[in-house]
Amino acid sequence: MKGILNFTQEQLVSQFNNLKFAKFRVQQVIDWIYSKGVTSFTQMTNFNGQTQGTLSNSYCIYRPQISAIKKSIDGTIKFLLKLDDSLTIESVFIPEDHRNTICLSTQVGCAVGCKFCNTGYNGFKRNLKPEEIIGQVFVIKDYVDSWKDRTKRISNVVFMGMGEPLYNWNNVNIAMQNLKLGGEIQGLSPKRITLSTSGIVSVLEKIIPTLECNLAISLHAPNSATRSSIMPINNLYNLENLLTICKAYNRLHPNKLITFEYILLNGINDNTGMAKQLIKILHGVKCKVNLIQFNSWKGDKFVGSDEQKIQNFRKILVSSGINATIRHSRGRDIMAACGQLQSSN
Ligand code: SF4
Repeated sequence: MKGILNFTQEQLVSQFNNLKFAKFRVQQVIDWIYSKGVTSFTQMTNFNGQTQGTLSNSYCIYRPQISAIKKSIDGTIKFLLKLDDSLTIESVFIPEDHRNTICLSTQVGCAVGCKFCNTGYNGFKRNLKPEEIIGQVFVIKDYVDSWKDRTKRISNVVFMGMGEPLYNWNNVNIAMQNLKLGGEIQGLSPKRITLSTSGIVSVLEKIIPTLECNLAISLHAPNSATRSSIMPINNLYNLENLLTICKAYNRLHPNKLITFEYILLNGINDNTGMAKQLIKILHGVKCKVNLIQFNSWKGDKFVGSDEQKIQNFRKILVSSGINATIRHSRGRDIMAACGQLQSSN
């Protein structure tokens, strides 16, 4: 049985051609799946029994299984989802006044191994398939009832959950293309999607010319020595090369800002000197900086900077003209905040 969510619209045309279905059937199936959220081909009421049967025998419409749910006092909901091979991932629903965001995982675990991240600490298992990425959105939509209730509509998706999306780029790209397919109400335009990466320069080089979504880079340090000490990926793709590719992105997408994420770790990357170095290296890069409080997890070796230090750090950046904001994490009480996700509850 093939997972229909793994196919792009174009690939579905050729799939349906092999089944001797008329081309217009592709759009009909897409509407049922991506706009109405049906979970079975027998719910596609404008198809006769024979067509429903052929589709049911050929494809499945994948949903991961909800293993556990945790609800934060701030409204954030964390889902522990079980995949067909019994591995688990986490996804997070973040409701806000004017938007609802889902934070998606792209891998089971992560090989990048950032020292401040619970996912990285627990190692890498495998890449997620497109249907396992899209399935996270669908299962959350089912749960919060956003297929029918417009106020629960998912307006934004961030690829900031478990995994490095650029180490699974082909599947992430298919998922992004397919998430557009839900039409005006359920579809997610690329400007509502943010791809967050630790800076896999070799992949960025290939994808930035055609990258439609927003780009966020996990920077976390203003010099290579500090960055390497907390993000070993810096030994492979160093800061200098990363900033060169960021400038290339700016040239190719002059109307977009890159978001740099910067977790403030006490005594490591949070002093005045570091803020000044950051100003220096970001000179000439069109960007904004998201300062993030460190979210603690069992086994971590860090202490987050206190509020005063975070405010001072921001003040220094802002005084030099950098657009810097402090991102207050959501769902900390249920371990759903940035860097806290793992494969078990
Ligand atoms: S921060 Fe992202 S890239 Fe780094 S280890 Fe965690 S999941 Fe992987």
